[in-house]
Amino acid sequence: MTVDKTFIDTLVVGAGQAGVAMSEHLSKLGVPHLVLERSRIAEAWRTGRWDSLVANGPAWHDRFPGLDIENVDPNGFASKDQMAAYFEAYARKFNAPIRTGVEVKRVTRNVGRPGFTVETSDGVIEANRVVAATGPFQRPVIPAIAPKSEALLQIHSAGYHNPAQLPDGAVLVVGAGSSGVQIADELRAAGKQVYLSVGAHDRPPRAYRGRDFCWWLGVLGEWDAEVVKPGKEHVTIAVSGAHGGRTVDFRRLAQEGITLVGLTRAFENGVVSFAPDLAENLARGDENYLGLLDAADAYIARNGLDLPEEPEARRTWPQPDCVAHPLLELDLAKAGVTSIIWATGYAVDFSWLQVDAFAANGKPRHQRGVGAEPGIYFIGLPWLSRRGSAFIWGVWHDARHIADHIAIQRKYQAYQGISPRPADAAQPAQAAAQPAVSA
Ligand SMILES: Cc1cc2nc3c(=O)[nH]c(=O)nc-3n(C[C@H](O)[C@H](O)[C@H](O)COP(=O)(O)OP(=O)(O)OC[C@H]3O[C@@H](n4cnc5c(N)ncnc54)[C@H](O)[C@@H]3O)c2cc1C
Repeated sequence: MTVDKTFIDTLVVGAGQAGVAMSEHLSKLGVPHLVLERSRIAEAWRTGRWDSLVANGPAWHDRFPGLDIENVDPNGFASKDQMAAYFEAYARKFNAPIRTGVEVKRVTRNVGRPGFTVETSDGVIEANRVVAATGPFQRPVIPAIAPKSEALLQIHSAGYHNPAQLPDGAVLVVGAGSSGVQIADELRAAGKQVYLSVGAHDRPPRAYRGRDFCWWLGVLGEWDAEVVKPGKEHVTIAVSGAHGGRTVDFRRLAQEGITLVGLTRAFENGVVSFAPDLAENLARGDENYLGLLDAADAYIARNGLDLPEEPEARRTWPQPDCVAHPLLELDLAKAGVTSIIWATGYAVDFSWLQVDAFAANGKPRHQRGVGAEPGIYFIGLPWLSRRGSAFIWGVWHDARHIADHIAIQRKYQAYQGISPRPADAAQPAQAAAQPAVSA
């Protein structure tokens, strides 16, 4: 079926969790809408994650209100396939109007009339409003320092699936956020020699005094923080639901056989150099970790909660040799490194959205997702309204705000105005005819 010449009030682009949440709230408010998805519902969870990935948050937290994740203990961690099935089931629950296999190629504002023209892989649609729900992580980023050697397999974490995909030999994993750290751990467990390049990171405890860190961030107001703390702009978060949920501890990873190195700086003639910042990066991660324990203790004391003490959470692993005497250079061939995995993050790509809602640096201009161009909305972006915005639970709440904004705008647009009353129309002439009043 072609979508040619269709009109729809609100078009949502993308049916990941953001598109599904958007559709639920628009449905609740009776806003006619359509969701177009170029692939399948929750495609990123199906094919954009490695095979063994489980959610970073427990099932009671990393879900939408109103539906549990089937066959997963609330304190357990759903697999990527269970997450994909969950969003599909959720969309089914309210019969979301989603069309899969249709890519939005270009959106332009209409001239001299309201709305937008949307060119898709299956025809043209007219829409009053467009919600970009195409994800926070669209284009894998590999830094320009990457070597151009054919002897090395280089992939982004988005293209990593399992250890069997890599050639024999050692591997360098660049980036120690949640992805890099879990991939490095998996490769080490598969018997590989692994070098892990660690930059600035936050490292919350998986759980403390009987509560998962997701709970702590919630009650301490951290998920609701509206702006990134100064100096934290380039700090990644290292958490994992793997192994049933275990605090990421770089020193333990080193004891288990991973060689930690500092920030990857440059590649020259087959030699990679690392910044001498490994100990400092680990110390800052520890600071973040201990800071959360302190804040949790203070919260417990202030509220008189009866939660079990956990002094062992403050014990540290011994300093590994690779931290005490860090490698500053590594000759890849001599070390037998045959592959590099870049766990270096993503960028957004809004090249299809050709409207006046972007700053000179390409970043969307919006207020809590309401675009600078009237009728354009963004959802699912990191820090859209708060720290939780790009995460499962946060996107649902942002979607509610955006749907509400759309419903209010529809009411303004439906308003018919006041027809001028005949008496009012005659008034100015009569007034002019009255004699001037003198004192
Ligand atoms: C490895 C990894 C693990 C994560 N784990 C967690 C976790 O455990 N818990 C958590 O809360 N968050 C997690 N996140 C963060 C976040 O929840 C996910 O990135 C999530 O997929 C974002 O959902 P989204 O709907 O905003 O975007 P996406 O899931 O990326 O969905 C966007 C959709 O838009 C479609 N699309 C894009 N362009 C077009 C177009 N032009 N036309 C039509 N369709 C289009 C795509 O096909 C895609 O299906 C994780 C992220 C990563 C990278």
